[in-house]
Amino acid sequence: MSDRVYIFDTTLRDGEQSPGCSMTVPEKLLMARKLVELGVDIMEAGFPIASEGDFEAVRAVAREHPEMKVAALCRATRLDIDRAADALKGARRARIHTFIATSAIHLTYKLKKSQQQVLDEAVAAVSLAKNYCEDVEFSAEDATRTDTDYLEKISVAVVDAGATTVNLPDTVGWSVPHEYGALIGRMVRSFGDRAILSVHCHDDLGLAVANSIAAVQAGARQIECTINGIGERAGNCSLEEVAAAFAVRKDQLPFETGLDLRQLYPASQLLSKIITFGPQPNKAIVGENAFAHEAGIHQDGYLKHRATYEIIEPASVGVPEGRLVLGKHSGRHALNQRCEDLGYTLTKPQLDQVYVQFTALADRKKGVRNEEIEAIIRSVASPTSAAAD
Ligand code: MN
Repeated sequence: MSDRVYIFDTTLRDGEQSPGCSMTVPEKLLMARKLVELGVDIMEAGFPIASEGDFEAVRAVAREHPEMKVAALCRATRLDIDRAADALKGARRARIHTFIATSAIHLTYKLKKSQQQVLDEAVAAVSLAKNYCEDVEFSAEDATRTDTDYLEKISVAVVDAGATTVNLPDTVGWSVPHEYGALIGRMVRSFGDRAILSVHCHDDLGLAVANSIAAVQAGARQIECTINGIGERAGNCSLEEVAAAFAVRKDQLPFETGLDLRQLYPASQLLSKIITFGPQPNKAIVGENAFAHEAGIHQDGYLKHRATYEIIEPASVGVPEGRLVLGKHSGRHALNQRCEDLGYTLTKPQLDQVYVQFTALADRKKGVRNEEIEAIIRSVASPTSAAAD
């Protein structure tokens, strides 16, 4: 089995349909350009039946990026599939992504349909989509809460009908890694290399990335994910976290993607500017504090050898520089480094004086800004002994 894992980005679809994240067509185009630079393999640009904007976004993204595989989402009905196919008409590399729920809870309360009805509709949808394009993805919504024998039956049936990718989403973020890995392993064995097995995990228990990785270890070869992990409720699997895990822990996770990791941070920043919020400060890889060191012991170790407290070179994921945050937990060592960075070379007694004033200020604040540090330096050092550049 190949170790190449395809990155299916759904920032513009699942991500976009969550609160505070809706994007206009020009905004989706802006984001799409960055996703192309980032090197995602498939871009899901919208849900064409949902709105004119979604329809137009799929068309516009496909028109502007003929080399990119562009997916359009649709339910397993003729109306939806026709609309998706219409939006993809000009696309050189189109994918129709059709889905229907398969779990008992969804069948009973939402669809009010029998398992046989749903299976028949899934097969019919894939066959219909197949008339429009060769590349058809089928998703069994709520797969992780679906009876496993039935899930296997429907997965094999859609592959027989021509589905080239079968996605088994953890729609409600219910699964745990070893359980999800076992499910994916079983399904991979049942249809082998006749189709790519895809995963789509939600983060309701904070396990979306762990579940996606467990699935890949079990044989899945497509991960559906989003920038900053945005998406329904607690969000989707975070693209940057999976990408970094594969890169940093190659010894344990020997998988390849087509991603240029140096675009991770720029992509995260761009998305934050387009939607109404950014990642939380302590978010792995792209959060504001992801490479910040404030505690004195950490700063001291980091300055002696960055690998003492850092497993990722910030520049390798596009973060401009590792940042030492100066606050009340910082030590003399880091403060001296900052003074030098600011252009001041202090004598030992000067540094001691600056340090006393600095800690007094830091005690009252959540972090000390460079201008405040400079003001302290100037009050302590005479112009002849400490020269600013
Ligand atoms: Mn989803």
